[in-house]
Amino acid sequence: MRIFISGPSGVGKSSVIKEILKRKPDTVLSVSYTTRAPRPGEHDGTDYFFVSRDTFEEMIEKGSFLEWANVHGHLYGTSLAWVESREADGFNVLFDIDVQGVIQAKAKGSKGCFIFIVPPDMEELSRRLNGRGTEDTRQLALRLENARHELTYWTIYDYLVVNDSLEKTIDDVSTIMEAQGLLKEEVIRKLPWLSTIA
Ligand code: 5GP
Repeated sequence: MRIFISGPSGVGKSSVIKEILKRKPDTVLSVSYTTRAPRPGEHDGTDYFFVSRDTFEEMIEKGSFLEWANVHGHLYGTSLAWVESREADGFNVLFDIDVQGVIQAKAKGSKGCFIFIVPPDMEELSRRLNGRGTEDTRQLALRLENARHELTYWTIYDYLVVNDSLEKTIDDVSTIMEAQGLLKEEVIRKLPWLSTIA
């Protein structure tokens, strides 16, 4: 099963995803390719595959990406081969991708559930972005402007989760995943005997 989670920068998505992965050993995070430089503490192959723009563009030409996007001036993409190999190993794959990526994944017919994490209000989002301290002022203004734009796409998602309490948000995402796992399309894969009974 594929679980797509988006949300504007600063909404608390990374903390939610980290906790979900701790709770669900059968779920892995899709490791994207990016042309952005690693931040302190980030590791190649764990947080992202950090590649040059040339390498990334070659991958686009070869059709290696399930989706890719230019986010804040850097390229980010999901390798289809990587996702399929994890699925073949029996894992659910969780995607931390932006709105542009979700639009492409949907256009390519990718099944799964699409979750959008939203802040309680814009003031709170601005406060959280300011508190993070990893961006300079120009980057911060750009991210806030992008966030406002990204929020206009709430309509394309299946679920909206308001992050006013981290615990509640984690519980909500967990509940959505459990329900998704009980959809007939998911269950029937584990019950081949039932699929023969029409
Ligand atoms: P960051 O640079 O803070 O790690 O990520 C910036 C944004 O890029 C986040 O909103 C994240 O969702 C998005 N992103 C990360 N990986 C991918 C990807 O593979 N595809 C797309 N479309 N967006 C991604």
